[in-house]
Amino acid sequence: MSLGELIDLQIRTNGPMSVATYMGLSLTHPRLGYYKGADPLGAKGDFITAPEVSQMFGELVGFFLVNLWQQMKEPRSFTLLELGPGRGTLMSDVMRVAQRAEGFANAAHLQLFETNPVLKAEQEKRLAQYLPYWADEIGALSDDPLLVVANEFFDALPIRQFVRGEDAWHERQIGLRDGKRAFGLSPTPIPAEVLPEEVRDAPPGSIYEAGIAAGEVMATLAEKIAAQGGAILAIDYGYGRTQTGETLQAVARHAYADPLEAPGEADLSAHVDFDALGKVATKAGLVVQPLTPQGLFLKRIGIGERAAALARANPGEMDAIEAALKRLIAPDQMGDLFKVFVAASPGISPVGVGR
Ligand code: SAH
Repeated sequence: MSLGELIDLQIRTNGPMSVATYMGLSLTHPRLGYYKGADPLGAKGDFITAPEVSQMFGELVGFFLVNLWQQMKEPRSFTLLELGPGRGTLMSDVMRVAQRAEGFANAAHLQLFETNPVLKAEQEKRLAQYLPYWADEIGALSDDPLLVVANEFFDALPIRQFVRGEDAWHERQIGLRDGKRAFGLSPTPIPAEVLPEEVRDAPPGSIYEAGIAAGEVMATLAEKIAAQGGAILAIDYGYGRTQTGETLQAVARHAYADPLEAPGEADLSAHVDFDALGKVATKAGLVVQPLTPQGLFLKRIGIGERAAALARANPGEMDAIEAALKRLIAPDQMGDLFKVFVAASPGISPVGVGR
């Protein structure tokens, strides 16, 4: 039975399901979920990410993390946690440059949070020398200081959607119409007070997306960081003010697809509400930096110099390096679409972020 058939059966027996339930099943159903199958990344896969574009991305994140560690007075033991490490490319680039900072690699206990067995095997190969540990649960961490990094992870977590009807807000659901999966609304109205103030009075037809799972992950980690010291760096497409607008999307083989068409076969994601995540982190006691576009962040922490040095060392690859640089920082490519979110213990001044 395909995941689509399984979902249809569930709808027929239990009634329509929320967008969050649908997204959760599509991505992480234990056998048939999108993130349980093949490696989705790269030219032959469904999409490409910044660390896969160029080693420069991970190297600069490495410098950024070393700087945080130095500001934390170089703890001799700390947890370096990556959420959704993909092929392990980002972390292997991070660790390669971080070895230049004496003591960092020895102090770092590498912990990885990953749901995809194929990617986990890649990570095992790529990162074996750093003796990583795979956590089944995000909160299962030691009492050491904690540095967290996540590239394109939060966008993969299930969201709920709410639609402003003529009378009130209703949760959006997925049901069956003439035997085909279709969006509809739960008949139960949602009291406006449970929605953030910024969206409550939006006109009929508006859609509000709530990143409930992302908020839970952030709360768990922010509380840990507030108690133990450290920071979280999350890079993703997203927005800096809570707002209405639908961003749920499906991507398969580098093209947009219908999110309801073939669950489990396309990547589903939604833009991250960094405003909401920032509020969660602030509440836990962290200092949240202004959201910064990826291009600006990378330029400030030295991607121009890094590209020039790489090109000098590999003159034959000058054009490829130049193209990768452009892809990562140009405003019409990844430079503006992707945003850099940093929340840290009070007293730390993360570099590259802010106005
Ligand atoms: N950070 C990598 C991969 C991004 S793709 C890169 O930039 O290339 C999203 C990653 O998050 C994948 O590794 C995916 O398997 C993982 N992932 C998605 N949902 C997850 C979940 N619920 N729990 C753990 N890992 C998850």
